[in-house]
Amino acid sequence: MTRLGTHVQVPFCQTKCTYCNFHTGVFSRDLYAPYVEAVCREIAEVPRLLSENRIDNVPNAVVDTAYFGGGTPSLLDPAGLGQIIDVIRSSFPTQLEEVTLEADPETISAEKAKAWRAAGFDRISMGVQSFNDAELTAAGRMHRRDDVSRATEILRAAGFASLSFDLIAGLPHQTARTWAASVEELLRLHPEHVSIYMMEIDEGSRLGLEVLQGGARYSAKALPTDDAMAEFYEHACAKLAEAGYGHYEISNWALPGFESRHNLKYWRREPYFGFGAGAHSFNGAQRWANAHDPAAYANSILSGHFPVEQLEAVTANQALEEELFLGLRQLAGIDLRGIETKYGARIGPRIKELVSQGLVEWDGPLLRLSPDRLTVSNEVFVHLLE
Ligand code: SF4
Repeated sequence: MTRLGTHVQVPFCQTKCTYCNFHTGVFSRDLYAPYVEAVCREIAEVPRLLSENRIDNVPNAVVDTAYFGGGTPSLLDPAGLGQIIDVIRSSFPTQLEEVTLEADPETISAEKAKAWRAAGFDRISMGVQSFNDAELTAAGRMHRRDDVSRATEILRAAGFASLSFDLIAGLPHQTARTWAASVEELLRLHPEHVSIYMMEIDEGSRLGLEVLQGGARYSAKALPTDDAMAEFYEHACAKLAEAGYGHYEISNWALPGFESRHNLKYWRREPYFGFGAGAHSFNGAQRWANAHDPAAYANSILSGHFPVEQLEAVTANQALEEELFLGLRQLAGIDLRGIETKYGARIGPRIKELVSQGLVEWDGPLLRLSPDRLTVSNEVFVHLLE
């Protein structure tokens, strides 16, 4: 039996956040129902769609996780979300252990929360990002601080025992004081899981473009410095540790037993199938992605075609790089000796320099990032992939 993850990509948002560089956007609500129908059809027809595209199915797969991400999947009608879970259950052998829905705080109501539980969701990942209203407003978010506590109460009352909150370190107008207040409020609400992402600046977002090209619309000039961002991250590391959260991946913390089973698959190179526009999949030997445009995706699926945009066989060298790059994101580290044996590679000599710089710790077969140097982990990855 091979455990298989499923990801359902929902690329719809109410507005576009200024920092967002994802393939998501604001689309007519008329597209939601055909999109759900297309996702259901893609799931139900997976064996045919894969074989027609010369993609290997995963033998003896049992689906144990489902993750609805976006975008803002909580915008879809709960009945449509439930329909997708039902199709997963009827199309694969399933032993679902974690079924996550990403939800933005302002989209959460008591009726929806009840319907999500009834549909089979047991975990909600809330896009909190900040508890400071000035930061939320500048970032183009729709919710405000009070919406998060209101949504948390609703979700707890509906029976959700597993909540995850995302925060972003490095939003415009963020200061050490506002960051500390956000972390404090997060700890007060006590989610079981926390993700903290560092702001990324690139030309894929409006804020990123303003940083690169100038302008005053998206508060680029109010962005904290890289050093400040690193301090925010380290502050959160300390506070979360004090509060009993285990730091298990560079950007992720959990109370014991609440690590994300689904996301662990990505770092462990375990197979997962992605459904929906822009969804990515991995069967252990090939990686592929669906067309990004939701209307083109839905039309393609509903006319019986699999809208694969990229398909590549993972070479042994790429697989080795992935084992290092993805595996090392987990703070427990990787079995370097085992990886060397598996790929017939010698990586030890490249590691020694990183050890002498204090960037990694190497103890017997185990290699891991130095816990006090996580803010410069990119240096390790660049060096390893050279
Ligand atoms: S809600 Fe998320 S996916 Fe949608 S625009 Fe904002 S950051 Fe991007």
